[in-house]
Amino acid sequence: MLLSPANWLPQAPLEPLLLDWLTRAGIEVAILRLDQIDPLISGNKWFKLIEHLKAADRAGAQGVISLGGAHSNHLHALAAAGKRLGFETVGLLRGHPQQTPTVADLQAFGMQLHWLGYGGYRARHEPGFWEPWQAQYPNLYAVPEGGGGLAGALGCKALKEQVSVQLSNLGWSDYHGWWLACGTGTTLAGLVLAEAGVHPVYGALAVPDDHGVAPQVAAIVREAGLQISAYELIDASRGGFAKVDPVLLEFIENAEQSCGVPLEPLYTGKALLALKQQVEAGRFEHGTRLIFVHTGGLQGRRGLISYS
Ligand SMILES: *Cc1c(COP(=O)(O)O)cnc(C)c1O
Repeated sequence: MLLSPANWLPQAPLEPLLLDWLTRAGIEVAILRLDQIDPLISGNKWFKLIEHLKAADRAGAQGVISLGGAHSNHLHALAAAGKRLGFETVGLLRGHPQQTPTVADLQAFGMQLHWLGYGGYRARHEPGFWEPWQAQYPNLYAVPEGGGGLAGALGCKALKEQVSVQLSNLGWSDYHGWWLACGTGTTLAGLVLAEAGVHPVYGALAVPDDHGVAPQVAAIVREAGLQISAYELIDASRGGFAKVDPVLLEFIENAEQSCGVPLEPLYTGKALLALKQQVEAGRFEHGTRLIFVHTGGLQGRRGLISYS
């Protein structure tokens, strides 16, 4: 039970999201604040880790080894979970040693870091990549980059339950769909599995089309054996992953000032701007109620120099 998160399932608050462009269109949005689940651990990356941690526990591991970049929300959540739940963590990092706010946190949380360079990191999908690491850390369980795959998606099914139990606080008896940012589509896939076609899930793509989100989501849905699924992927990348532009930054600043919810420009800001564009294009009927998932990522924005 060393790694098991069984006794620690944080509740994300569900709050009304008040913005004039929603009100004008007669659309109501509630925001599920995954950025507020815990002072240390934040965002969808925690939910994506749950099933991986259970598997690590079943395997009798003492801890977890995984990989990511110098601003990685995934490694941040993993290191924080290791600190909180008391298990060992090792992070394999892309590129050459650099000090970012994220890296400083990883070190403070006690994660052991190894920098792989760029070539070394690119080899992560090659057969045999894990062998030397498994030899060096025989008691650790390896979790893929970003905590993806079916295991990652299954942990995100919990989000539907978290919304269901809080709906009545808003005076809602139901909702019409979900809206969230997608990187790999794992979190969206978890919601699609949880909904099984009951409510549609709209994914705002933070990455361009060639990142293969659609086939990845389809593969998870197929692997889970789901018969009926309802989801749609909408381009929201604005020219590329992590590309920011003045329109986006101004939108984020205005939205933060109006609704008081902090956003970052890679995922949540782009997802909300894409929602505004769809709302203004008349995509949703008057009276539509949507759940917007705040997927977190605020720790990563400290490292973005262009973000003022
Ligand atoms: C990783 C991440 C996403 C994307 O999640 P996927 O499951 O890969 O689609 C969205 N928002 C934030 C803040 C993230 O860190």
